[in-house]
Amino acid sequence: MKQRLAFYASPPMPRTTRSPSPGTPRSKSDPGARLGLVSAWDFALHLPLHYIDETRLTPIAALRDGVSAVVQATVRSAELMAGRRRQLRVRVTDDAGELELRFFHFYPGWQRQYAPGKLLRIRGEARAGLFGMEMVHPACQVCEADAPLPRGFTPVYPAGAGVGQPWLRRATAAALAHLDVPDPLPEAVRKRMRLPGLGAALALLHAPPAGTNIAALEDRTHPAWTRIKFDELLAQQMAQQCARARRQSRHACPLPLVPGAGALARRLIAALPFELTHDQRCCAAEIAADLARAQPMHRLLQGDVGSGKTVVAALAAAQAIDAGFQCVLMAPTDLLATQHLGKLAGWLEPLGVRVAWLGGSQGRAAKALALTQVAAGEADLIVGTHAVIQDRVRFARLGLAIVDEQHRFGVAQRLSLRAKGLETAGDAREPHLLTMSATPIPRTLAMALYGDLDVSTIASAPPGRTPVRTRVFAASRRDAVIERVRTLVSEGRQVYWVCPLVEEAPERDITGGSPSAELRNVEATCTELRAALGAQGNLVGLVHGRLRATRKAEVMAEFVAARLRLLVATTVIEVGVDVPTASLMVIEHAERFGLSQLHQLRGRVGRGAMAAECLLLFSEPLSDMARARLRALRDSTDGFALAQKDLELRGPGELLGQRQSGLQALRHADLRTDAALLEQAREVAVDLLRDDPAAARMHLERWLGAGTDWLAA
Ligand code: ADP
Ligand code: MG
Repeated sequence: MKQRLAFYASPPMPRTTRSPSPGTPRSKSDPGARLGLVSAWDFALHLPLHYIDETRLTPIAALRDGVSAVVQATVRSAELMAGRRRQLRVRVTDDAGELELRFFHFYPGWQRQYAPGKLLRIRGEARAGLFGMEMVHPACQVCEADAPLPRGFTPVYPAGAGVGQPWLRRATAAALAHLDVPDPLPEAVRKRMRLPGLGAALALLHAPPAGTNIAALEDRTHPAWTRIKFDELLAQQMAQQCARARRQSRHACPLPLVPGAGALARRLIAALPFELTHDQRCCAAEIAADLARAQPMHRLLQGDVGSGKTVVAALAAAQAIDAGFQCVLMAPTDLLATQHLGKLAGWLEPLGVRVAWLGGSQGRAAKALALTQVAAGEADLIVGTHAVIQDRVRFARLGLAIVDEQHRFGVAQRLSLRAKGLETAGDAREPHLLTMSATPIPRTLAMALYGDLDVSTIASAPPGRTPVRTRVFAASRRDAVIERVRTLVSEGRQVYWVCPLVEEAPERDITGGSPSAELRNVEATCTELRAALGAQGNLVGLVHGRLRATRKAEVMAEFVAARLRLLVATTVIEVGVDVPTASLMVIEHAERFGLSQLHQLRGRVGRGAMAAECLLLFSEPLSDMARARLRALRDSTDGFALAQKDLELRGPGELLGQRQSGLQALRHADLRTDAALLEQAREVAVDLLRDDPAAARMHLERWLGAGTDWLAA
């Protein structure tokens, strides 16, 4: 209640009335620090969520139900009402009307403070009550008859941590008053883009004068907002270009393609049972060229599920190995890493490549042997999970690191892979880095996130694939779906049945912990389907995240070998798993999955020439969002289009998962709506870095903080 009282009163000034200087550590008791606001720029960029209009007084007679207003009126009576709920009722009047103010929480002194005859200024939402208009818990204060009204709109800031609006308003105004705002953008650019100056934009956002289009401010389409978003994107794009420039100045071992037909990569191509597609050849060529350079490659290979990224990675590995270096491939799950191992060893071992395995569930002796071979340079290609970045792993001469499903890993994990190479090279040369992703990233997002890396894209899948036919069913038709599964299984076809996630336990927890409700659910479904399949019930397998890795691998192997025909699974089969003979996928509670995830799952079928089908079972109630997702999935098999749709529906954070860093950095711009702005920011970033390094540095420090010299190569 104190806070409400303080509405018109003078809130305490922030401890320093001068603008806080950047970088000065403040104590936790500092309200600003509690909100992460330290420097004057922090305050300047802490922008209002919305505004209230206190510029006009509304006569009581003109109050409307449900509308907030500011009223100036004289107290008629202030009564304490006893009863079930104690309350203070203050009746006020202006020339033409009467209004009742009701307080359920109040200090005893208020009754005296709001004594009859006192003039009050009151802000609150009017309500049509039983006895005329009323306001419950309005903000009010005793005032003089001629007390001035604010001339502009009053900002409402994101608050919290016990820091109230009055304090924020004062502190922000104080910070802005002392803030020098040189504009990093040249006049010509501002004119061309029709952007206001930075100082003007900030002034308007924090204190919009009367007459400002508040709706445009609140939905962030006002030019002042455009300017702020642009500046944020500009900083982000500049930081990435600086990172790219720094990478160009670092060193890597050149891994040139060995000339002639004897080159390992060429022998691999000759031995493949298929022809590479045009896209695969292009991507492979881009990677080959990068590897030959003495600067570290940092390239993302993206392609829809089943587009054939693995063989492109194998060609890169072959080139590195041929040049006398080791290559490591890291995958996010045991299941996926095992599949890579099988595939890569199958292709490369016949050509004389020594392949080693480093997994989470590896026996002690096997692991020790693998570690020795890796350290002694007796293994050329090392495939594994996170195990490959453990401390004990020492490479003899790491030349290339490949990370599959890179978005499943944190930045730190990718960096430690790079550090592994540095550790072993003994000089300042780092390995080349190839990352792969089957979550196609819309162009805007790729630019925002990966402006510092190069992207190769496999746009079309190998020929001979039949597009998956997708149908949506209400859960009430589950029996019909089970019947369909039964028919297919009896015809010798293979089927996936996917249940919502059982939280994938970290490796060490696999044996412990009590099974969750979802686990019981996936097990119950398995039992149910076994029963439904009768004599063929023994052809049903179960895999989920809580199984031991070895057990998971066994079940998968059975399924790959077609000894199992129905695999009941959670999303552990989401990434990369490749069983070309599976032709039906049923997804239960499809409404609980994200669009990209559903697309990933569906990509597990339709990998062979056989017609494949995906049945999405949903349960009511279905949100509009879920309905939109299922419809999009039914109507499209294009991963890029779906990723774009997902971005629109859910925003980038959801699409990429929480681990993806770099996104939190965008506070104001929204990649769903600001794609065009991002493109412009990218161009301006190049120009500014080249033409005005001082302005560029200032801008980077403002947005990304001092302490990092972004421009230092
Ligand atoms: P992803 O891009 O999802 O990792 P994979 O690399 O697992 O896809 O490839 C999917 C399947 O397509 C694999 O069985 C692979 O051997 C096969 N494949 C890859 N390239 C071709 C090609 N050019 N022609 C035919 N089949 C291919
Ligand atoms: Mg893959």
